[in-house]
Amino acid sequence: MESWQAPGLRRLPGTGEPLRLYDTARQDVHPSVPGAGGARMYVCGITPYDATHLGHAATMITFDVINRVWRDNGHAVNYVQNVTDVDEPLFERAERDGVDWKALGRRETALFREDMEALRILPPVAYVGAVESMTDVADLVERLVEVGAGYRLDDGTGDVYFPVDDAEGFGGESHYDRATMLRYFGERGGDPDRAGKRDPLDALLWRGKRDGEPSWPSALGDGRPGWHIECAAIALKYLGEQIDVQGGGNDLIFPHHEMSAAHAEAATKVAPFARHYVHAGMIALDGEKMSKSLGNLVFVSRLRADGVDPAAVRLGLLDGHYRDDRAWTDDVLRRAQQRLETWRAATARRSGADGAALLAKVRGCLSNDVDTAAALAAVDEWSTSNGDDADAPSLVSATVDSLLGVTL
Ligand code: ZN
Repeated sequence: MESWQAPGLRRLPGTGEPLRLYDTARQDVHPSVPGAGGARMYVCGITPYDATHLGHAATMITFDVINRVWRDNGHAVNYVQNVTDVDEPLFERAERDGVDWKALGRRETALFREDMEALRILPPVAYVGAVESMTDVADLVERLVEVGAGYRLDDGTGDVYFPVDDAEGFGGESHYDRATMLRYFGERGGDPDRAGKRDPLDALLWRGKRDGEPSWPSALGDGRPGWHIECAAIALKYLGEQIDVQGGGNDLIFPHHEMSAAHAEAATKVAPFARHYVHAGMIALDGEKMSKSLGNLVFVSRLRADGVDPAAVRLGLLDGHYRDDRAWTDDVLRRAQQRLETWRAATARRSGADGAALLAKVRGCLSNDVDTAAALAAVDEWSTSNGDDADAPSLVSATVDSLLGVTL
């Protein structure tokens, strides 16, 4: 599937500090050490039934900064993102609005691309939809069945499930207890009450064809894939058996990332599937997590249409730690707009305080588990100081552009 247009990436003098990142599985900060072939990152993309809201944007910006820090360290980055263009919520929305689910998916994916370009997100090397990956997904389900990591329900539906009981290390990514797993599984697309499964937590790999639902042919019979197997198949195909970062919002910790890692590991026998499982916090509006069920979504496209500078949206979302759940308020936006003005004025001066020192400070903050709030504070301090470094304004402008993705 077509990706989006890459923003220009300015090269900075020297190289940054190696990135240290929090890993959900090891529950601590560890160095990220990409191999000779470069860093490999998989970030779970959208289900294209609605426009990009600030929660999506915050997640995409987090992984964009990780991408930028790796590149500043001289690593090539192979970044893959999927589009879940076959899924229940998409079919439901299409039915509700009386539109074709494929057309709805195309329209919302196009809007997502526009939003990503406006926010200056570096595009994935491979932007891959589920529809175009059907053969890869079906092959992986077949492989899992062959190694005993997939079983067919005997109720005539043709549905194939993943037995969590046999999955070595299952639970080691999220560390949730069973009651929490069951709750999230039920809330986030799972079917703990489905009759005939060996364990309520067993996840759907392949759903046999139903009347009125789209389906694709496979050796397992016509049907369509479960959610987690889609990401496992796309990541294995485009990135290989072990990746550096598996990323998404913290609502993907379980079941999605636990399951897709378990699927991949059962097929390849290589563990861990990801060296770092990285999760961004949720964005709240008026004290409530932004979610479609609450209807309190702030859309990036709406803000853009209202004339808000996407650079201010970026700065507003970067003003807090990526792992924390954060609030979006009018005040956050006002502060970001004010900051943008201050930085623009400061970098328009003839000289400023030591620019190389500021670059080193920003690199230090970002290498420390992507501490963007500290990086912003460092630029604030530079902007309100005076100095006679004539190169500083252009170096600071390049630093903010290259590492934070904000054009001054
Ligand atoms: Zn995913």
